[in-house]
Amino acid sequence: MMNDVINPRDLLAKLISYPTVSSDTNLPLVEWVEMFLSSYGIKSERILSPCGTKAHLYAQTGPEIDGGVMLSGHTDVVPVEGQAWSTDPWVLSERDGKLFGRGACDMKGFDALALMAMAQASTRPLKRPLQLALSYDEEVGCVAVVDLVETMLGALPRAREVIVGEPTMMRVVTGHKGGLGFHVHVRGFEVHSSLLPYGVSAIMQAARLIDWANQRNAENAARTPSELAAPFEPPFTTLHVGQIEGGTAHNITAKDCRFFIEFRFVPGESPDDWASAIEAKAADLSGEMQKIHPDTGIDMVRGFALPALTPEVNGAAETLARRLTGDNGQHVVSYGTEGSQFQTRGYSTVICGPGDIAQAHQPDEFLSLEQLAAGEAFMDRLLESLCA
Ligand SMILES: [Zn+2]
Repeated sequence: MMNDVINPRDLLAKLISYPTVSSDTNLPLVEWVEMFLSSYGIKSERILSPCGTKAHLYAQTGPEIDGGVMLSGHTDVVPVEGQAWSTDPWVLSERDGKLFGRGACDMKGFDALALMAMAQASTRPLKRPLQLALSYDEEVGCVAVVDLVETMLGALPRAREVIVGEPTMMRVVTGHKGGLGFHVHVRGFEVHSSLLPYGVSAIMQAARLIDWANQRNAENAARTPSELAAPFEPPFTTLHVGQIEGGTAHNITAKDCRFFIEFRFVPGESPDDWASAIEAKAADLSGEMQKIHPDTGIDMVRGFALPALTPEVNGAAETLARRLTGDNGQHVVSYGTEGSQFQTRGYSTVICGPGDIAQAHQPDEFLSLEQLAAGEAFMDRLLESLCA
């Protein structure tokens, strides 16, 4: 099945041919990767999802010792429904120096390069191991990967550097904001609006909590940014409500109001602190509401939480990636990645991969041949450094 000449473009075409949208199975892709790796004598392990329809995969090649390099990618992609594609998104096609297909950029291009590197590494005299981590469900919150990270920590020698290959145009990205979200349900008490003081309007109480968010935004914006926050645009934590619903009539105090609030917080700030802050405010408001009617209050359910990726001081992963790419610029990004899940569990981590994030999730998503070649050169240098 496998050719002696490993070509990242062919590997990418193969990976793209599996429609691994996050809501669907990735098992056929995982099975193919297992066969590919085993044809080079590399044993891999899968970790099944709780529902059994998806799996993470991890593998190692080289000596069974600590201090290796881990290449981390996700196997899932975003849907294509409602997007105007000019070619079949599940068939790699080339046009004007670009490779088109769903996931070409985000991030099966890197996955293909990582598979190529693993295969080549298996035939080289590595002094340090190379590890591969492929996840599912990255596009739906970067949470499933926690299971993968924790399993690898227990099952494999500990890698010294983790490179997460999200598209950065092969620049070395050392930080991103974290995310935190809550489903908020404000429970009011219905009376005719002419009797306003005897009712509790869920909408008007929701407005008070949302205005608390406005005040935090103003406060955050007015503060001098910390050193960790300064590189971001904007250089502070933001709170945002993007969806709200509630009420039944203009003259009835609303019984229910529901909204979703998200925090995008800068490195150095903790999701738990922000969670405590909003929970305290909601508890205050609930107390006031219950003085009017005991069956009212504010319920909050955590929707997602992703730590920030924090630039490391003399980080091993950053040092390695800078040496391999020659990029010495300071870069942070505004999107979240699985990298912070590795970092918060003790791995030195950077983001560095081929392609432009502007291409991610778009119709006619592509990876330029130039970026693929840059990624290939990166892997060549990585293998040299693992043998040195
Ligand atoms: Zn991605």
